[in-house]
Amino acid sequence: MAINLRTLLILCALQWRCSNGLPEMIPIGGLFHPSDDKQEIAFRYAVEKINSDRAILPRSKLSAQIEKIPPQDSFHASKKVCHLLRTGVAAIFGPQSAHTASHVQSICDTMEIPHLETRWDYRLRRESCLVNLYPHPTTLSKAYVDLVKAWGWKSFTIIYENNEGLVRLQELLKAHGPYEFPITVRQLGEGNDYRPLLKQIKNSAESHIVLDCSTQRIYDVLKQAQQIGMMSDYHSYLLTSLDLHGVDLEEFKYGGTNITAFRLVDPEGPEVRKITRDWNLGMDAKNKKDFPLMNRDNETFVKAETALMYDAVHLFAKALHDLDTSQQIDIKPLSCDAVDFWPHGYSLINYMKVVEMRGLTGIIKFDHQGFRSDFVLDIIELTREGLKKIGTWNSSEGVNFTRTYGEAYTQIVEIIQNKTFVVTTILSAPYVMRKEASEKLIGNAQFEGYAVDLIHEISRVLGFNYTIKLAPDGRYGSLNRETNEWDGMIRELLDQKADLAIADLTITYDREQAVDFTMPFMNLGISILYRKPIKQPPNLFSFLSPLSLDVWIYMATAYLGVSVLLFILARFTPYEWHNPHPCNPNPDHLENQFSLNNCMWFAIGSLMQQGCDFLPKAVSTRMVAGMWWFFTLIMISSYTANLAAFLTVERMDSPIESAEDLAKQTKIKYGALRGGSTVAFFRDSNFSTYQRMWAFMESQRPSVFTSSNHEGVEQVVKGKGGYAFLMESTSIEYVIERNCELTQVGGMLDSKGYGIAMPPNSPFRTAISGAILKLQEEGKLHILKTRWWKEKRGGGACRDDTTKTSSTANELGLANVGGVFVVLMGGMGVACVIAVCEFVWKSRKVAVEERWLFGQSLPEKVKPLEDFEPTTSKFPPN
Ligand code: ASP
Repeated sequence: MAINLRTLLILCALQWRCSNGLPEMIPIGGLFHPSDDKQEIAFRYAVEKINSDRAILPRSKLSAQIEKIPPQDSFHASKKVCHLLRTGVAAIFGPQSAHTASHVQSICDTMEIPHLETRWDYRLRRESCLVNLYPHPTTLSKAYVDLVKAWGWKSFTIIYENNEGLVRLQELLKAHGPYEFPITVRQLGEGNDYRPLLKQIKNSAESHIVLDCSTQRIYDVLKQAQQIGMMSDYHSYLLTSLDLHGVDLEEFKYGGTNITAFRLVDPEGPEVRKITRDWNLGMDAKNKKDFPLMNRDNETFVKAETALMYDAVHLFAKALHDLDTSQQIDIKPLSCDAVDFWPHGYSLINYMKVVEMRGLTGIIKFDHQGFRSDFVLDIIELTREGLKKIGTWNSSEGVNFTRTYGEAYTQIVEIIQNKTFVVTTILSAPYVMRKEASEKLIGNAQFEGYAVDLIHEISRVLGFNYTIKLAPDGRYGSLNRETNEWDGMIRELLDQKADLAIADLTITYDREQAVDFTMPFMNLGISILYRKPIKQPPNLFSFLSPLSLDVWIYMATAYLGVSVLLFILARFTPYEWHNPHPCNPNPDHLENQFSLNNCMWFAIGSLMQQGCDFLPKAVSTRMVAGMWWFFTLIMISSYTANLAAFLTVERMDSPIESAEDLAKQTKIKYGALRGGSTVAFFRDSNFSTYQRMWAFMESQRPSVFTSSNHEGVEQVVKGKGGYAFLMESTSIEYVIERNCELTQVGGMLDSKGYGIAMPPNSPFRTAISGAILKLQEEGKLHILKTRWWKEKRGGGACRDDTTKTSSTANELGLANVGGVFVVLMGGMGVACVIAVCEFVWKSRKVAVEERWLFGQSLPEKVKPLEDFEPTTSKFPPN
């Protein structure tokens, strides 16, 4: 009866229209679950606000018709909708539960009544009468993908609560390619104890977590994660809830954990603040207690869905206002039992889809399918001051971080200043050594060395405290490929037992995949540590050393060649024949002084710089002699100069000069530090020499690998030339400064650097790298190097030794003196040509004198090389 009276009143109101086409009273229905208090409050508040402001609907008023329905009871929900429609409503708002909403939707669709929702709905198609203000799940999911990509997360673990969560994150799952790092997906499970699941995630060393659970459970999950040590500086959480500002995060502010989420509503926005204030004032203490979500200060806050409800009512009112100018609208009661519909429903829906307005949740706009488009999400991060906006996301531009690099850096430096870092290291001279002292030392005072000074300098720059702790297994860190587990300092970092690893720890690809490294503080390469070459006793025939054997052989050949050529040319040229009796103008015979013996004597005399008592007269023979003298001049000068060097330098004998020499032989054993980057270099190398060296090292029994650099050095000393140690050049430099028996053989086989390692995802990397760079630019790193290499702990002991052995003299090879031989040969060639010319010239002269005709036999006077005697030769008498 009461209902009928109310219907009657509404009908009367509908009949009394306003002059502009809208009834004075416009009823709108709201369906709420008992737990949706905030939705209801927002709904009522929005209606009241529109009615009192009169800015949107100046001559009409909205009237809120509210029905409460149980969340799981769709039958009940259908009945209530029909009841609302019977009384006559212009739109239905809510409900929030998916079970009941679908029934409400189908009824609204049939009756063509606008249905406004503000809940997360994953369906890809929407009913024609539905407008849902909640961002579409696929678009929202894309925001998570964009953020994860912007951070460059390679692997992560998704913790979800129910199937809806998986749908929410499906784009994230899809974006992960098959060849990328694995991602883990775990369900939160029933009950309130999440620790077993969190412990498993912790043991997997995963530090990137995507948490999808209801806003009410976020605090418990984070709290339990904190209890098991999963809220460190190195963990990052991406929360999918849009209501993180409603969670009490006070206890997590100072842990350094990176907690990030998106939000749709800015609680600091002026309108939102006003609403919050009004609600707080309007609620009595009892109501406050019943509120499902309350922040730490026991104040209500605006949930995304609540703000959306507020916006939905405003959107509807705006559409109504717009429609009012073009149509006459009346609201009629509809019966679910009859085939009936509201003729203005679709027009209103279409108006709502084209309306563009700014609400509590930003720009409200829809695409042609009725999905909310162009909305902007704030990216918020937990800082010491609470949640801070660090950027925005929108569907067209993706992630846009608004926090500057400087702000982020300053924030990290502030965090660092209150920290005490655990620094893991190993004993390795001169990086970390035990301090020699008579009293018992404790804490950091026990250690000294380059790395200890370095961390001290960095701590002074950034203002943190630190505790040095030795890695229990004393290893640098290598990956066991069977168990896929790390050891040494790297293990300490991965287990988060240490924050920094400082030692002579090489930056390698494998290690970089597991932990983070700063920029290198020292550059080096692998080289060979070996015993110094042994001094050779002076050689009896050391005078032969200045010239190589080839040169000696070539010289002997040149000597013989020149002697023979001189002999032949002297025979050939007429000008070397002379009259033995100058008073007799027509002698029986002519003489030639260049017999073969004499030629050899002449050549040796010149070579030994002594000369001889006869000299050539013809141009050709003089040419030969001149060239030979030039040759001897250069050769003897070179020999003399090099001999001086050879006599002053001690001859050293080193069986190996390079890694190739080592690889070629098997007599001298060689090895490296077990589990270090040096061993990894040979194991993974594709270069045949290094592969051979690795095969050799592996095959040796007993093992040639050592457990420390110190052990390697001892083996080289004890091996007396039978063992070479492959070691990093900086450590070799340190050893040979102090142990004068040892030296570095050959150059560096590669080039790399030492860096400070820290757990993956460490926020401190940039700050510590910056400090290293600063120390480098100030020259502090150089000072530290000089201090620990050259000055402290017996540095510089072998400095004189090094200068002595560094000068060497090399025998002169053919490459050094080859040019002289070429000149000599050229000269010989020219001499031959001259000899022929001389012969032809003389023949012509004699022919003219003797009136010799062409065709007769050659005059006896010019017949060469006939009837010679061993010492002097005579032309036969005519
Ligand atoms: N510095 C090296 C490392 O980090 C040790 C070595 O292999 O020589 O593994």
